[in-house]
Amino acid sequence: MISVLEVFMKIYNTLTRKKEEFVPINEGKVGIYVCGPTVYDYIHIGNARPMIVFDTLRRYLEYRGYDVNYVSNFTDVDDKIIKRAQEEGVDAKVISERFIAETKKDMVAMNVQEATTHPKATEEIPDMIAMIQTLIEKGHAYEVNGTVYFRTRSFQSYGKLSHKNIDDLESGHRAENHQLKVSGQDEKEDALDFVLWKPKKEGEPFWESPWGEGRPGWHLECSVMSKKYIGDVIDIHAGGEDLIFPHHENEIAQSEAANDKEFARYWMHNGFLKINNEKMSKSLGNFFTVREIAETYPLQVIRFFMLSAHYRSPLNFSADLVEASKNGLERILNAVDKLKSLSPAEEEGSDAAIEEALAGYKKRFEEAMDDDLNTADAISVIFELVKYTNINITNAVPKQTVDKAIGIIEELCGVLGIITEKEEDLLDSDIEALIQERQAARKEKNFARADEIRTLLSEKGIILEDTREGVKWKRA
Ligand code: AMP
Ligand code: ZN
Repeated sequence: MISVLEVFMKIYNTLTRKKEEFVPINEGKVGIYVCGPTVYDYIHIGNARPMIVFDTLRRYLEYRGYDVNYVSNFTDVDDKIIKRAQEEGVDAKVISERFIAETKKDMVAMNVQEATTHPKATEEIPDMIAMIQTLIEKGHAYEVNGTVYFRTRSFQSYGKLSHKNIDDLESGHRAENHQLKVSGQDEKEDALDFVLWKPKKEGEPFWESPWGEGRPGWHLECSVMSKKYIGDVIDIHAGGEDLIFPHHENEIAQSEAANDKEFARYWMHNGFLKINNEKMSKSLGNFFTVREIAETYPLQVIRFFMLSAHYRSPLNFSADLVEASKNGLERILNAVDKLKSLSPAEEEGSDAAIEEALAGYKKRFEEAMDDDLNTADAISVIFELVKYTNINITNAVPKQTVDKAIGIIEELCGVLGIITEKEEDLLDSDIEALIQERQAARKEKNFARADEIRTLLSEKGIILEDTREGVKWKRA
């Protein structure tokens, strides 16, 4: 393993628009903050992209020997959560807790590791109030009628991440400003100012604050939680590219104005997952939830599909492309299977030429990953590697070398979060088909086959229940 002192990785930094050598603040340690989902519904596969991509970044840095502190929040107070709670007649907490649990299940199923910390906005309110107070004291924020605004123009470098000029932004807001004045809501000093704290409305969750009962603005939570769980300066801040403006721009303004330190050294943003060349999003209604997709594909295939493109490129979701990923993954898993089923004649000894070739693939995989996490190229290297093992590794190769080949494929796939054990899980559609076959067997009084199917399903953890409405099933 390369010493962590040696610079090995280049990361494209949205802030400088350049690929830069990655040098962490503290030797051997990396603090990563990834903006997490707003938990008002099941996540869609667009939301899954940053989860998979940055989980892979974390795995790669760990593979390289870093100690990674990975923090990703759940936004659990928000208009959409409140709206859903009102529709269902329950507390907002019921909704957010439900969808945090569901999101975590999806993450496990996609082999996304649990973060070092998953902070929740509602549990960090005192620190948010403290940061707002600091900003007011420093002249970067002001209160009007229970709302606290960030004074955007007081932060000199506003726009540096999104490369926007503040005066252009101002002219864009002029029409809005005019609108506010007409409606008598022109309490902001400037149309560019954004909310840090808002007063409660009837039926909404609220907390006590020096500015009355209310709740925090969305941007504030990430500034506060990253400070608390990583520090004033974080190594890598990441999220989807839609967050660059205004969310991340506002996070920078808040944090740098409050802490007088650079907020994040490297900014990484994933491109959109698209469908028919449009961003997949809840508001456009063109989305598939991770849960829906899991009925058709093992989620490992979806993970592999996501990593088959460079994280900054847009990625179009289509059945053909996912099918191609499924076949590609099969090829890798079959190769590992084949290697594991070999019975090499020689226990001892090794084949130096083959081991050198294997090490060469591993090196090329690392080079691809070092180049701004180029998982697309890294996967191509794995394909070449399995092609090589398929041709060159036979029973004539010493066992030690065969094991080395298996170990390297498993290790590199592991960096991508891909498990090389063959996925034996049954899909929902397979289960339904088996249940139908069992029903047919019973009709034909073929009880032996019917029992066989029940046993097979039970071995896979599927429990059948014969009810008056028909056969119901659940996973154990
Ligand atoms: P949200 O819950 O909308 O704040 O989204 C959570 C995360 O998913 C953010 O990092 C978004 O940038 C990301 N995201 C949302 N939609 C997509 C998409 N279609 N493609 C890629 N990332 C997305
Ligand atoms: Zn954020």
